[in-house]
Amino acid sequence: MKTLIVETANPKILGELVSVSRIFGETPDIVVLGLGDLPGSYGEAYRISDTLGANAGAALSELIRQKGYELILLSATAVGSGIAGPLAVRLGAPILSEVTGVTDDLTIERALYGSKAVARYKMESGPLVLTIKRKYFEATVLEGKAETVDLPVGPQKLELLEEIEEEHRGIPLEDAEVIVTGGRGIGGGDNFATLNDMAALLNGAVGATRGAVDEGWMPPGAQIGQTGKIVAPSVYFAVGASGASQHLAGISNAKCVVAINKDNEANIFKRARFGIVGDYKKAVPALINILKESV
Ligand SMILES: Cc1cc2nc3c(=O)[nH]c(=O)nc-3n(C[C@H](O)[C@H](O)[C@H](O)COP(=O)(O)OP(=O)(O)OC[C@H]3O[C@@H](n4cnc5c(N)ncnc54)[C@H](O)[C@@H]3O)c2cc1C
Repeated sequence: MKTLIVETANPKILGELVSVSRIFGETPDIVVLGLGDLPGSYGEAYRISDTLGANAGAALSELIRQKGYELILLSATAVGSGIAGPLAVRLGAPILSEVTGVTDDLTIERALYGSKAVARYKMESGPLVLTIKRKYFEATVLEGKAETVDLPVGPQKLELLEEIEEEHRGIPLEDAEVIVTGGRGIGGGDNFATLNDMAALLNGAVGATRGAVDEGWMPPGAQIGQTGKIVAPSVYFAVGASGASQHLAGISNAKCVVAINKDNEANIFKRARFGIVGDYKKAVPALINILKESV
């Protein structure tokens, strides 16, 4: 099946999309968006210097029609999601978003009902647009550097004025081997200081549930879950977090989950390997003391 990847030159995201294309047994073509060296090797490689779907859409749909691509792979990031929907409409193609699984018989999986269910779809005929959820496919390591042919972009409809990186201290959540996450049960932004102390002793990072982010206690970049970051640490502490399915969707590959919650019926205890039923204000300082003694 003739496959086209549309993505920026980010090697990890590209690597995941290349892995998906290989499940379909294809060497994909690519349209790389924006600037930067393109890692990997492809059938044909094109470049559109603009990462905004509103500007790149016409050139993309033109190329896809001309070349007859049957499968268009994007990542379920802000860039990919911004392009995928309007592109599918231009092509009159169906779209499946946030895909979490793909098999070589063209069965495609994605989550439903706040990640409580998995739905399977079968592709009958192309073209089909897929956005692939981050971290569900092992990234292919991309060797070498591909030359690209520039595709002309139509009139600019949106202009990117500025990109502002979120301030971040310490280890990035996605790389941390230990994560201490606080939920609404933490009770206030200042109370996160104790979770910071605990994470620092464990050389880990601090995450948050959407409950804590909605309260303004932690920045949106700290949110873990279906609409936040996907993490897979060795140890994951869920403190004052109820364990909603949308939160659990972000930690399905965490090895050892430890829950601290004063409600013994909280859903998080169904996911946790170890659980402490109690007030975190007692449990966390006690853990910190033990950690200090053992360092
Ligand atoms: C489309 C959609 C997407 C979503 N995406 C996400 C997502 O990506 N990530 C996410 O996290 N959520 C997400 N949510 C929200 C999710 O459904 C829950 O509302 C949210 O996870 C709840 O956050 P919480 O566990 O912090 O808060 P709560 O559900 O309010 O739980 C707080 C917990 O703290 C406990 N507690 C209270 N005080 C203490 C104390 N002193 N000591 C110990 N425990 C205490 C309570 O017993 C309770 O279990 C999404 C929802 C929707 C609809």
